[in-house]
Amino acid sequence: MAGLIGRKAGAVQRAETMRIAVIGAGMGGLAVASLLARDGHGVTLIERFAAPRPLGSGLVVQPVGLAVLDEIGAGDAARGLGASVRRMLGHAGRRRVLDVAYRATDPGLAMHRAALFHVLWQAMQAAGVALATGHTVTAAPPDGAGRRVETAGGDSLGPFDLVVDASGAGSCLSGLKARPLPFGAVWGHVPWPEATDLPADTLRQRYRAASRMAGVLPVGCLPGEDRPRAAVFWSMPAAQLDAWPATDFAVWKTRVTEFWPEIAPFLAPLTRAADLTPARYGHGTLRRPYADRLAFIGDAAHRASPQLGQGANMALLDALALARALRGRDVTAALAQYAAMRRWHVRMYQAMSAALTPAYQSDSRLLPPLRDLILAPLSLVPPAPAILTRLVSGDLIPPLAGEAWPPRGDLRA
Ligand SMILES: Cc1cc2nc3c(=O)[nH]c(=O)nc-3n(C[C@H](O)[C@H](O)[C@H](O)COP(=O)(O)OP(=O)(O)OC[C@H]3O[C@@H](n4cnc5c(N)ncnc54)[C@H](O)[C@@H]3O)c2cc1C
Repeated sequence: MAGLIGRKAGAVQRAETMRIAVIGAGMGGLAVASLLARDGHGVTLIERFAAPRPLGSGLVVQPVGLAVLDEIGAGDAARGLGASVRRMLGHAGRRRVLDVAYRATDPGLAMHRAALFHVLWQAMQAAGVALATGHTVTAAPPDGAGRRVETAGGDSLGPFDLVVDASGAGSCLSGLKARPLPFGAVWGHVPWPEATDLPADTLRQRYRAASRMAGVLPVGCLPGEDRPRAAVFWSMPAAQLDAWPATDFAVWKTRVTEFWPEIAPFLAPLTRAADLTPARYGHGTLRRPYADRLAFIGDAAHRASPQLGQGANMALLDALALARALRGRDVTAALAQYAAMRRWHVRMYQAMSAALTPAYQSDSRLLPPLRDLILAPLSLVPPAPAILTRLVSGDLIPPLAGEAWPPRGDLRA
């Protein structure tokens, strides 16, 4: 079947369209389903939840992720809900140990997960993606020249010319064995308090060595609301997360408020441990993010701690790379091209995350003084600030190898 690819005058390409199954309606799955449907492919999005919903609290859509949302046609809706973040600032006592500014023209966009999910969901529906919800995928075996998708309920969907695994950290198809990280966190969200002096355009963190960290992230509004919110988080050893629900919450609040008095108005609306959700982190990267007629994107292909704030952005970039690679190529060539486009960006960010996370979340005695006395002062000396800005923005190296960045926008309607 011939399909129309690229909608801008002069940028129109013809290629074979395919039947594609995308597993998982998370950040990567919704994005890739939209992009592929807009390219003319017949896309079925398969999700385990009957009513898909986002899990978790807030995150930062970095400038690279926002460029992908623009490609999908969801950028303006995201900007309408999220909060522009211009700076990341962290203190240990009075010492400033983290200070990274975004480019003035290119801030990060902090969002509640439900808001990001909402804009991606709208875009996916507008692109004409077929939905199959309430299906927990268990396998995607080869079937002739394609693959089928099998579910826990005994259904067999397909065959499909290509299956995209976007089912996140719990993927049953990806062979990725992530290393559990020793620290996780509890996360919650609250209305942005009136009685605070914290700026509403800055991610703030407070540390003691690397074993304690509290944070406040402005996340903008939930869909249908007009009162902005904040995400709050508290770093904890992963081994203690199971016991979190039994925490004496009043004692915990007193302890955290003594540690960082400015967080008090953010903690005020929280009344029980269940108001904060434990999150565990892992780290790992698939060497080859594809197999025959099967592509892995997002957390199914690589996982890292959220310290660098790149996970959802990586999923969005994977989605764009896969859609671009499929233009005018057969599936086998396209999958190899997808992996090549993302290889060095993924590897570099995974390496930076692995190197930096222990300086902010660990029991190390050596790293915090190194961070505070050597790395933090050095980070203020040019060209370090500009490098850190690019690192956090997601474009320290080209996000899609061989492609102009930011994207040309030839997918935009
Ligand atoms: C506490 C925390 C804070 C974070 N902060 C940031 C941040 O600031 N910036 C950032 O960029 N990233 C951040 N991340 C990382 C980011 O959330 C993930 O990297 C991102 O959500 C991965 O997207 P994904 O599409 O791969 O998977 P997910 O968003 O996890 O989506 C997976 C989807 O697949 C579905 N699914 C799973 N299994 C099956 C199955 N068997 N069958 C059918 N459907 C299935 C799930 O229900 C879900 O809808 C954070 C992560 C955590 C935990």
